[in-house]
Amino acid sequence: MRVLVTGGAGYIGSAAAAILLERGYEVTILDDLSTGHSELVAPGAKFVDGSLLQKAAVDSALEGVDAVIHFGAKSLVGESVQKPEIYWNTNVNGTRILLEAMREKGIKKIVFSSSAATYGEPKSVPITEGSETKPTNPYGASKLAVDYMLTSEAIAHEIGAISLRYFNVAGAYKSQSGWLTENHNPETHLIPNVLKATSDNPLKIFGADWPTADKTCIRDYVHVVDLIDAHIISLEKLIAGKHEIINLGCGSGYSVKQVVDAAAKTVGREIPFVVTDRRPGDPAVLIADISKAKNYLGWAPTRDLAVMVSDTWESQNVSNK
Ligand code: UDP
Repeated sequence: MRVLVTGGAGYIGSAAAAILLERGYEVTILDDLSTGHSELVAPGAKFVDGSLLQKAAVDSALEGVDAVIHFGAKSLVGESVQKPEIYWNTNVNGTRILLEAMREKGIKKIVFSSSAATYGEPKSVPITEGSETKPTNPYGASKLAVDYMLTSEAIAHEIGAISLRYFNVAGAYKSQSGWLTENHNPETHLIPNVLKATSDNPLKIFGADWPTADKTCIRDYVHVVDLIDAHIISLEKLIAGKHEIINLGCGSGYSVKQVVDAAAKTVGREIPFVVTDRRPGDPAVLIADISKAKNYLGWAPTRDLAVMVSDTWESQNVSNK
């Protein structure tokens, strides 16, 4: 089976492409390298340097393809508030173009990278796929719009689609050609920022006045390799005419301070931090109910927070040298 991985030069997409190749799939990558990195493109994959907004590039990337895993997107919440038009264009219009090109070629299988940001501030946790969707920023709204797009496409055109709603993805993958890790600019994610903290440039903890046990925010972290396993299982479970939405997390929460403590253990020193104001738009607690992933996909995460932290640490030490 040949799989098109959109966004295959990014953090999650590059690891997905490498793992697919290692498991015997053929892979095509479509990425415009706007936030991806050419050195992360899996050797052995066919690479198309182009954007989802360029129909000709999408057409060429779909040559000989049987199924699509669609990671390619803009994914910075803060940027989405300041420049929503980019999010509607790349994430929503880009997916519309991709689906049109798939329709023209009769390609009927898609696994989509959706997000817990579709839920917004939850009324209660854990969050199920039936929880209210009320995104608090254009990034989450754009992912929710695509989820709706896929539901209608499945009904109208008999495609099989699964939207995987990620909670907090972390960790790294050691592929045959080296570590594939997170390298955003600017880096906004907690685990890489914790590991980068120095006494001159301490970690900023965004608020220590939250209604949680240790007063810092709680999130549900899932290892990137576990996450990709769920995508590959999903590929094999697609049913024509059906769109399923499935949460991916580990099903339990860790506070910012617990992440800091786990990192201190891994690196063998205290992590310097300062407490600053809350970050706008952060909910206090996000935890996934992952019953559907367990029951429908037969998937369960196997790598805990300590593995996520130590893989990020090892991969970033290697890539920083
Ligand atoms: N966070 C923090 N300092 C940072 C980055 C993140 O205190 O430098 C907190 C943030 O407020 C949130 C959690 O860590 O509660 C996870 O944030 P991240 O940006 O990694 O993921 P998000 O939950 O926004 O998807």
